[in-house]
Amino acid sequence: MNIILFGAPGAGKGTQAEAISEHKSIPTISTGNIIREALKSGSELGHKAKSYMAGGGLVPDEIVIDIIKERISHDDCKNGFILDGFPRTITQAEALDKMGVTIDKVIEIDISDSIIIERTSGRRVCEKCGSSYHLVNKKPQKDGICDRCHGTLVQREDDHPETVKNRLKIYHEQTKPLERYYSNQGKLVVIKGDNKTINETLEMVLSALEA
Ligand code: AMP
Repeated sequence: MNIILFGAPGAGKGTQAEAISEHKSIPTISTGNIIREALKSGSELGHKAKSYMAGGGLVPDEIVIDIIKERISHDDCKNGFILDGFPRTITQAEALDKMGVTIDKVIEIDISDSIIIERTSGRRVCEKCGSSYHLVNKKPQKDGICDRCHGTLVQREDDHPETVKNRLKIYHEQTKPLERYYSNQGKLVVIKGDNKTINETLEMVLSALEA
């Protein structure tokens, strides 16, 4: 099963993707995580992406399309995958269609902007493995330490409030139109996540995937 998870930055896509991945035994592909890895390792991709990412802007379509093309060709994607944070523009969605990839379901996690701002300010990520936590909603067992790999938890630079506002603006302008794109294809399921816990949202996501 090939799944797209879409929603504003900070809507909890990463956390949901990890849980679905365990449930369905298919990998999660997060373009954001791949780019952050590239930045850390100082690769050419990292250099190219750095200036766009710092201010909360989108990395150019051709760069992320190449990342996805390469990643989904790996063996572990044979039985399906979850795309987290891709596509983020209509051009990227069209590129996916042109690659001949069949998307089975598109799950939109719909959260209002004010809640997004609140959530992103408390988000912490593991600098080693990228796992996501929250100071209130998803605390690690030990403060500041990743449960999975014992890496250090840090605040992402692009989770600072001013950057988040910019990311939300870009989301509404460039990513939100995907809602219509995928509802026209009959693939979109919208999950309203305001006032819902992570587990409640996950239950709704999993039953949408079974439907
Ligand atoms: P994320 O972790 O998904 O919030 O992504 C972090 C940042 O990586 C975004 O703010 C963009 O700068 C960049 N990025 C990730 N995925 C994409 C994409 N599909 N298209 C363009 N830029 C992306």
